Amino acid sequence: MPASNPTCVYCGRRATCKDHIRPRSRGGTDEDSNLTPSCDECNSAKGAKLLTEWIPGRVLRAVAVEPKVYAELLRIRADDERQLAARHLARADAAALAREQALGEILSTRRAVGLTQAVFLGIVPIGLAAVRKARQRDPEFPEPIATGLGGELLYHVDELRAWAANRPSVLAQTTRLPGNTPVTVPAIGAARRPVEPLPPEPPRAG
Ligand SMILES: [Zn+2]
Repeated sequence: MPASNPTCVYCGRRATCKDHIRPRSRGGTDEDSNLTPSCDECNSAKGAKLLTEWIPGRVLRAVAVEPKVYAELLRIRADDERQLAARHLARADAAALAREQALGEILSTRRAVGLTQAVFLGIVPIGLAAVRKARQRDPEFPEPIATGLGGELLYHVDELRAWAANRPSVLAQTTRLPGNTPVTVPAIGAARRPVEPLPPEPPRAG
């Protein structure tokens, strides 16, 4: 095909101008990589639209004949993914702010907190299951100071924090890896109550 007789990448008719694949008003440049042969009708109909906002059939035809159009579609998709990621981060920021406000409210008023909230707010830096286990097993676990709605026991924030800072090694946590292999992770801190080793299994009869 002679260069002097190009066809419109969008509709296949005779090209009469160059289209900005990404419109200048949407950040497109005048570089050759952003220009493609087009007819006047497609050029003006597409106007300030991104490829993903225009007639899909014409865009698909252009993708098949013009690598620059395909490259632009990939860029639009990458932009969309970046925006999704940014929105996700904004939501995470909002959640962190909500936690901060909840913690501030607790610290400035009753200073009493349930264990679920204490874990959620980071007052105790371990998981809820480990805290509940500690409440049962650790004689140094703080006493509740009140009972909240629904019968939940409430603890003093300062006492929970002091306990968490000095928690003994009885808090060693057993977790299960994929494949159900139990792994015991020792907690940081001095062993105040050594854990009794399990007795060896008796030999099986027979
Ligand atoms: Zn056209």
